[in-house]
Amino acid sequence: KGKYIRTLGEKEYFGERTLFKNEPRSATAIANESAEILHIDKEDFTGIVEQNMMEYMRNRLYLQDSSLTLNELSFEAHLGSGNYGNVSLVSSKKLGNEKFCYAIKGISRNQIDYEQLHNNLELERKILLQIDHPFIVKLVKTLKDSRFIYFLMEVVNGKELFDVIRDIGLLTKKQAQFYGGSMLLAMEYLHERKFIYRDIKPENIMVLYKTGYIKIIDFGTAKQIEDCTNTIIGTPHYMAPEVILGGGYSFTVDIWSIAVCLYEFLCGGVPFAENAEDPSKKTNYLIFLIF
Ligand code: ADP
Ligand code: MG
Repeated sequence: KGKYIRTLGEKEYFGERTLFKNEPRSATAIANESAEILHIDKEDFTGIVEQNMMEYMRNRLYLQDSSLTLNELSFEAHLGSGNYGNVSLVSSKKLGNEKFCYAIKGISRNQIDYEQLHNNLELERKILLQIDHPFIVKLVKTLKDSRFIYFLMEVVNGKELFDVIRDIGLLTKKQAQFYGGSMLLAMEYLHERKFIYRDIKPENIMVLYKTGYIKIIDFGTAKQIEDCTNTIIGTPHYMAPEVILGGGYSFTVDIWSIAVCLYEFLCGGVPFAENAEDPSKKTNYLIFLIF
């Protein structure tokens, strides 16, 4: 109905709603430059696509249902608490649908006013709504009532990579390649769309119990840029020197942070200022800059 939803890029897909639900398409796809599109009919699709992939695509349909309202959700359990609010497991009892679970994060409007979070939350919302990648948490929509703003999201059933690498101990080369490669794929996807993430670290990455694949959850530091930006933001141990120097930086700072993670996977501990509470105050910080 004339409303912009998102821009799809290379290797993305649309139109699967009809294959699963026999419903008419819910949106119109328009090519904004010359594009090559491959299509597959229902018979081939069901014959070729495997069970896991089917399940992934079916879940994705629920995660695209932007017509859900607060009244259609019932509380199931508490999932976690962050700096800005509680995250709960909720289920949808929407008529005609099987039960489906979502995670919902409520952020109090008082706190939003007090801490002037409006622009940050709006930016996080805008970015997450445009992203569709298996390694990045999906935002279904935002909702509000008189006291809270809610982020309705995909449930991430897993454990922080931060804890996973402590359970495993030093990772083997193969394991490090697996997590490093997964992070690279997610960053490649973001960078192609001009999003810079700026806070890659094991705390921001979940590892799913069921499949072992990663899911990046926190988009509080992400931004869409042309080529360059200069805000000093991130987590000191994982920040590239050019972020700290303040003379402007670009997408490659995410690659630096992935490399810090790789070092941590293989050697234990971060490469720079491992023992510093605040790395910017210690002498190893100099090494960091010279490097
Ligand atoms: P904040 O931005 O306020 O710090 P987070 O987004 O980091 O909040 O969420 C706080 C905690 O809630 C996370 O550490 C995690 O345990 C849990 N959580 C957040 N999002 C999800 C989700 N989509 N699925 C499951 N648990 C989640
Ligand atoms: Mg957080």
